[in-house]
Amino acid sequence: MAISDAYEAVIGLEVHTQLLTRSKIFCGCANEFGAAPNHNVCPVCMGMPGVLPVFNRRVLELTIRVGLATHSQISERSIFARKNYFYPDLPKGYQISQYERPLCVGGYIELPTGNGAPRRIQLARIHLEEDAGKNIHRPTASLVDFNRSGTPLLEIVSEPELRSAEEATAYLRELRSILRYLEVSDGNMEEGSFRCDANVSVRPCGATELGAKTEIKNLNSFKFVEKAIKHEIERQTAVLKAGGKIMQETHLWDPERGETRPMRSKEYAHDYRYFPEPDLPELYVPPELVEQIRAQAPEVPAARRARYARDLSLSAYEIDVLTQEREVGDYFEAMVAAGIETKAAANWTMTEVLRASNESTETFSNAVPPPAQTAALLKLVAQNEISLNAAKTAFAAMCKSGQDAATTVKALGLAQVSDEATISQVCDQVLSAEADKVAQFHAGREKLFGFFVGQVVKAMKGNANPKVVNEVLKRKLAMAGRPSPSDLPSSGA
Ligand code: ADP
Ligand code: ZN
Ligand code: MG
Repeated sequence: MAISDAYEAVIGLEVHTQLLTRSKIFCGCANEFGAAPNHNVCPVCMGMPGVLPVFNRRVLELTIRVGLATHSQISERSIFARKNYFYPDLPKGYQISQYERPLCVGGYIELPTGNGAPRRIQLARIHLEEDAGKNIHRPTASLVDFNRSGTPLLEIVSEPELRSAEEATAYLRELRSILRYLEVSDGNMEEGSFRCDANVSVRPCGATELGAKTEIKNLNSFKFVEKAIKHEIERQTAVLKAGGKIMQETHLWDPERGETRPMRSKEYAHDYRYFPEPDLPELYVPPELVEQIRAQAPEVPAARRARYARDLSLSAYEIDVLTQEREVGDYFEAMVAAGIETKAAANWTMTEVLRASNESTETFSNAVPPPAQTAALLKLVAQNEISLNAAKTAFAAMCKSGQDAATTVKALGLAQVSDEATISQVCDQVLSAEADKVAQFHAGREKLFGFFVGQVVKAMKGNANPKVVNEVLKRKLAMAGRPSPSDLPSSGA
């Protein structure tokens, strides 16, 4: 056994996601990103003495939606707790969170594994809390913006069941995809609405106890999560191999240096002096509410993957790409519903549609034409009215202009010429211009046939129907190969 195989990594992730509600969790201030500093604030979210929080019912509904989509148990009774700590962006001196009795317990997320059975990662809990404000450090002063304070946050905590950096990233992608399918979060990592802390430990293979862990904070992209975890696994493995001990610490990922740095020794739950929040009553979730939300639950990515695998002949890779974002899958399905063959709709969605949306700064639905128009375009290809290349050109133009397929094809002169007389004329021109090559062809260089086709297509600016060009050229070259009647020795006369 190689030495590096003697240890295994253990990873558990804590994800914080901001919920897409109109107002904050305990007050009526707007929950929006990007407002002028300290614009969306009130005495409640600024932590003034004597104010009282009022729980936002929408937050509860969105959390239950996530709980159901992750197969969690929804607690009929849960409580809020005060988590006490001092920080300039936390004027109350405590954060309202959940500690004992969170809203969702258990549950799991299934990761696709190509054609095999999905890999199931258990969740420990999903609980609610309020976000803190934001400190902004300038050379001469530190400023605090309380707009974010009181933003509803969901914390989704996995069991320590992930075994590699790649698996951790796959888990995050799936979780983000679920949250976006459910429309509970935009999952935007750059804006901080989807944030991850990674807990990493290493232990000898075969050990049943967990090793001491470090917690890595400040991971704001999938790439950083993967790099930071890899780095941390290597660092810890080296320490253990050298006979050292891992300290339970909180590390900060430094993307510039590509390494983690200890930030502080890890705090423990008892450091926070959690106690039940006296300003909020116990949270009671009537079973009818859960059932009502279950009945309206949107499809989740895993269900859509299973449906595609069952109903459509697509590869696991294709299914994965098509289902990662709900609107991409919706687009593909709308094209199929409009009569485009599955494979063609899948290919077009995975290449042209995703390219256009990735290259655009617009939202998906603004970046690409309505699926009915893309379907109309692909029908022109199926009916041999335009070539596949012409369709790609037309599609790119449609993304920018917003015009329909027929208008675009006409405006760009992309209609394919199938008319035999026109094609025949061009073939004659090409063959007479290339008389030497025609002679070589008849002398046995049959590969030149492709050259002739190419010349005709080029002369017709790519708009010739290649099938007709092939047929006409074959006929003409066969004819030219036979001696024409005038070349035959005249008999008699
Ligand atoms: P803490 O009290 O230190 O916050 P928790 O038990 O709340 O620890 O777990 C926090 C996260 O850390 C969870 O995602 C959990 O799966 C993960 N975790 C716990 N112990 C370990 C370990 N030894 N190695 C890796 N991850 C761990
Ligand atoms: Zn407020
Ligand atoms: Mg914890």
